[in-house]
Amino acid sequence: MNINTKQISFNLAMKKYHEKKRYGYIYLLVSFLNVGMQFYLLSVLFTLNFQWHLFLVIFLLAYFLTDFINGYIHLYMDNNHNYEGIMGPFVASFHLHHRHPTYANFSLPRIYFNESGAKFWLVLFLLLTIVLSFTQINSYLLMTLIFIGILSSVAEVSHFLCHNGKSSTVLFLQNIGILLSMKHHRKHHEEDNQSYAFLNGMSDFFLDKIAKRFYDGYQNYSDLHAKAYVGEDTRNRG
Ligand SMILES: [Zn+2]
Ligand SMILES: [Zn+2]
Repeated sequence: MNINTKQISFNLAMKKYHEKKRYGYIYLLVSFLNVGMQFYLLSVLFTLNFQWHLFLVIFLLAYFLTDFINGYIHLYMDNNHNYEGIMGPFVASFHLHHRHPTYANFSLPRIYFNESGAKFWLVLFLLLTIVLSFTQINSYLLMTLIFIGILSSVAEVSHFLCHNGKSSTVLFLQNIGILLSMKHHRKHHEEDNQSYAFLNGMSDFFLDKIAKRFYDGYQNYSDLHAKAYVGEDTRNRG
């Protein structure tokens, strides 16, 4: 399909996004579900028996897996051009993150809550983790799933801080590789089809290979589709 046709369906999807209140309500509902389930799973975490050295190993493993899973979903979304149908307005609004990479400055808990609302897959992931917590699942496996479930929202805050954070503590955490640094993330915004990870970027080595092999990138596709859009930026939703 040519670029003009895609730009028209992009604009139609965004029009729907702004006219129909349900899209905002769905984000709100998804935020409540994700954050609510994360709180519940955090309480489950405190009931688990574990050895500290294994706890640290599991945390590091989960950190890598979170970076990879969320980076892959970002890769998939940046390469998704389907603006029709029920998910179309969500896909279109997601693409605006390349045009306006700076967020409105809200408090970190509010960013955590707001950005959790776009993570539809996380609702299923957390629900499955809760169901598994009632079974005889290995406690270290359960711990890994709980960490991934919570760190996936932390990744959104890390990406926010990468664009908006200026405090010395944030810069220190970025410099030592715990959070995503602008130096690492800049390539995603300035170049094409790379550096999709956004917890700290440690899995980009693998994601870049997958992107290069299987995906076309965004600069000649979704970025162009979004280019003709002149309406409100969804990234700053309060
Ligand atoms: Zn992107
Ligand atoms: Zn960014």
